Order: sequence, then C-alpha cells, then structure tokens
Amino acid sequence: MISVEEAQRILQENSVEPRREMVGLDRACGRILCDNIVAPEPSPRYTSSAMDGFALRCDDCTIKQGDPAVLEIVGESQAGIPFDGEIPVGGTIRISTGAMLPDGADTVVRIEDTRESDNQVEILGVVSFGQDIRRSGEEFQQGDPLFTAGCRLGARELALLAAVGLHTVEVYAQPLVSLLVTGTELASPDDPEILSHQIRDSNSIMLQSAVQEAGALLRDRYHILDSFEDTREAIERASACGDDVILCSGGVSVGRHDHVKDAALAAGFSELFWKIRQKPGKPLFVCRKNDTLLFGLPGNPVSAFMCFNNYVGPVLAKLQGIGSVHRSITAKAIERVENKGKRTNFIRVLVENKPNEMAFIKEVAQQGSHMLSTIVHADGYIVLQPGETLKPGGLIEVFLF
Ligand code: AMP
Ligand code: MG
Repeated sequence: MISVEEAQRILQENSVEPRREMVGLDRACGRILCDNIVAPEPSPRYTSSAMDGFALRCDDCTIKQGDPAVLEIVGESQAGIPFDGEIPVGGTIRISTGAMLPDGADTVVRIEDTRESDNQVEILGVVSFGQDIRRSGEEFQQGDPLFTAGCRLGARELALLAAVGLHTVEVYAQPLVSLLVTGTELASPDDPEILSHQIRDSNSIMLQSAVQEAGALLRDRYHILDSFEDTREAIERASACGDDVILCSGGVSVGRHDHVKDAALAAGFSELFWKIRQKPGKPLFVCRKNDTLLFGLPGNPVSAFMCFNNYVGPVLAKLQGIGSVHRSITAKAIERVENKGKRTNFIRVLVENKPNEMAFIKEVAQQGSHMLSTIVHADGYIVLQPGETLKPGGLIEVFLF
C-alpha cells in the first residue's frame, strides 16, 4: 500500500503532454486556450456615434446672442451605411448609434437635444467638444494583450474573439476516455424487472458525467460481467483505440471475482500502483500501456467518485493544460472530527455559510462508501491523517465538490 502523496507523485510522473487542436469558435466553449493572444485590430474598429442624433463640428454650435445654432442637414450616416464625404462648415448629418462618424465631424448631439424643421436642425443646450463619440481604439489598440494562455473560453471570451475576427483558436484537445463497468450484479437503471439480488448501475452515469464535467470525451462504454476473459477482451479493445484514459469500475479488490487487475496485466498494461492508504478508495489500481492510463476504480459508488475526484480529475485536467482542479476554502469545525484509523481519511462535510463570518463545517453523519446520498448532501470533504483530530473551532481546508 502506498500513501496518497506517493500515488499523486506517480501519476504526475506518468503524465502525458497535452495535445493541441485548432477549433472554430462554435466548438470552443469550455476549452482551454494554448497561447496568449494579442488584439489583431483595435476596438472599436472605427470612430462612431454613441447616440442617435446629429454629427457636427463643435465650433458651429456656439450660441450667438442667445440664439441656438441652426445647422443645415446634408445627409445621413446609418449603422452599416456610412455618409460619403466630409460635412461642410455649418452643416450636419443624421447619425445612428454605432454609425461611422464622417470626416469633418467631431461631436454628436443626441436627438433629444435638437429641434428639427425643414432641412435644418436647431441645437438646443450646451455642446461640449467630442461628446457622445466612441473613438477607434479607446477600448484597446492593435497588439494589446487580450487573453492569457490557460484561460477557459466561455460566452464572454468567445464573444471577444469573434469581435476581433479570430474565428478559430488553438485549444487543448479533449482527452478521450473509455468506460468499462464490471459487475454481474448490475441492472440498468431503466430495468423494470430488476431482481431482488441485483443493484442498479449508478457508476456508469456518474463516471460518464464526471468525465463530461472534467471536459473530456467519453468515446465508448462497456458493461461486462465478472469474467476474466470478458474483462481482458474489453480492456484490449479499449486500449487498441489509443484512448488517454480507460476507466474501470469495480472488480479491483481481492475477491475471487475481481478481475480488472489481472486482466489489465494480461492485456499488456504495467502496474503503477495498487492500493492506497486512504479511506474511501483503498483498492484503487492504476496501470499504463503506452500513453494510455487505466484506472481501476473501486465499485462502491462513493469510493469510485472520490477516486475519480482525487486522481482521475487532475489527470484529465493536466491533459487539457489545466493546473489545478480543486476549489478549496478555509472553514471552522463546529464539532470534534477525528481520524482514529490507519489510513488518510477523506471526510465528507457540510459547509454552512453565514454572512460576514468564516464558514463552519459539520461532518456528514454517514460516511459509508456505499451510501451515494451522503456525497450528494455533502458540500465537500476534508483530509485528516491517521491519528489527527480537529477540535471544535479548529480551522481546516475544505475541498469543495
Ligand atoms: P466491487 O468493487 O466490484 O467489489 O464492488 C463493490 C460494491 O460496489 C458492491 O456492493 C457492488 O455491488 C457495488 N457496485 C459495483 N459496481 C457498481 C455500479 N456500477 N453501480 C453501483 N454500485 C456498484
Ligand atoms: Mg464487482
């Protein structure tokens, strides 16, 4: 049995360089940018009006002996149809929001501050030079830094890329994953005739969703009975596809019907480790063949989830250029929490937030590794080493789900 830290170190040493790919913006949501990006053009691209109104020369608007300036309307600049030419002294054009400011104009007066008659417009109120204009490059100039490598692309980032004409981006490829769920006792969740000795397969959808949440792609999914031959054959089939990760569920313990470890070795994988001094998730088995890592997750749903969270998630993240996946906060214990065992304990906790106070944690009452509801109701977990005690009021790092 190895320690949690040793297992993490071995996985770190066996990490594979992430692959890159160019994708269109419509496939880039949620992906991680490979390189820094500078602005290929300024924003705004051209000087335009911020209002619906009139574009004019500010000098023409000086109020003479209390009379408002009256300007000749000589044309229009519409969004998408600019005014062709320069506005003359004493002249103005109608302009819409976002429309290009014509040569000669330096100021916009909004419709509400004007009175129109025939082909003339009276400018009411005081006009200041340059008002209601959006200047080219006022947001950023060509060559200014826009994005940092490692940034996750979401709606806001994709909009900005589109706005500057970057319609494809280089992102890290999504890791490919196969899922092999073992267990002769398993029935499908939609099986109406489940027998009394069967259990519903919840790991399939849990792990499939966890893979999705981690940004990876589930390439294939197999359900196999607890048979050495079937398990070996499924592992061989999956490994022939060159996936980054093969996830197995169940069959990694010491029982007579646990075949994943031997089947993986027979399929040409080399063991990296088996069994970690941790609770839950002791029997985790990890092996490697070429660039494919196989994780033999324990079948108990809570153990499978915690092992995915602690070991598989970081590997999938690293394959996409993401450094850290765990969000954590510091919180206070309400009650005493202790680890009386001999293994590192991942204790599921509830987090209670009160405004302007440090969050409190409470141990989830039931910690059984077969009790799925307990991780649904928990907000995260704390890590306690063997013999470690957390006293009431003591501070601890909470890793949030
Ligand atoms: P195993 O690791 O195969 O010995 O399984 C340990 C426990 O987890 C057993 O009680 C199994 O019935 C349960 N289990 C195994 N696979 C699944 C699954 N896919 N969904 C839900 N529970 C499972
Ligand atoms: Mg089993």
